[in-house]
Amino acid sequence: MLRRLLHSVASDDARETMVREQIAARGIRDPRVIEALREVPRHLFIPEPERPRAYDDGPVSIGQGQTISQPYIVALMTELLRPQPGDRVLEIGTGSGYQAAVLARLVSHVYTIELEETLASNAAALLRELKYENITGRTGDGYAGWPEHAPFDIVIVTAAPEQIPQPLIEQLQPGGRLIVPVGPRFTVQQLQLIEKDAAGAIRSRDIAPVMFVPLRRP
Ligand code: SAH
Repeated sequence: MLRRLLHSVASDDARETMVREQIAARGIRDPRVIEALREVPRHLFIPEPERPRAYDDGPVSIGQGQTISQPYIVALMTELLRPQPGDRVLEIGTGSGYQAAVLARLVSHVYTIELEETLASNAAALLRELKYENITGRTGDGYAGWPEHAPFDIVIVTAAPEQIPQPLIEQLQPGGRLIVPVGPRFTVQQLQLIEKDAAGAIRSRDIAPVMFVPLRRP
């Protein structure tokens, strides 16, 4: 009991340091985004053997050959998406569930799709335990989006396709934002922010070079 309490105090400290040194110091400004990063217990989303690295300044392995993104990249993508309290979000690549949890604090509902059964069910169990009631997940290929719940105000892809899947652009609401790392496998990709204006026109902006695991087709 005492050990658990001490552990959770240590994690809170590590998380404060993460937010100060990796997030705020590098220019993330949206106070709601900073608050969400401060509140979500990132270490719980990381399997035991890797947990000591939970607040490191880099991606961490979550099993099945997959990774949870670097905290700064999670914050940057979240801020660029300009999440609003009423927004409905689609995420492709649930992984640990961490990015979904961060977004769920900022929007009305997050729909998230994960190809790997084990990761999907672990994330679902943890999110349930942490009492997130505005996240709906399913196992499967996210390439075609989730038409039953479309359109979305925000689409976030956390694995890299070689080209942007057309269905994801189609399922974006006018005024909607899509963020996706685009490029070849296992090398540098370009993080792109796509915006659909009120008339349905698409504008795309290159944000930064990044490295994500590939979006796989089953
Ligand atoms: N957002 C995650 C990190 C995801 S890593 C987090 O916060 O932890 C990328 C994830 O995308 C991996 O779990 C991988 O299994 C998943 N993935 C890869 N291809 C996919 C596809 N076609 N559909 C859905 N998920 C996919």
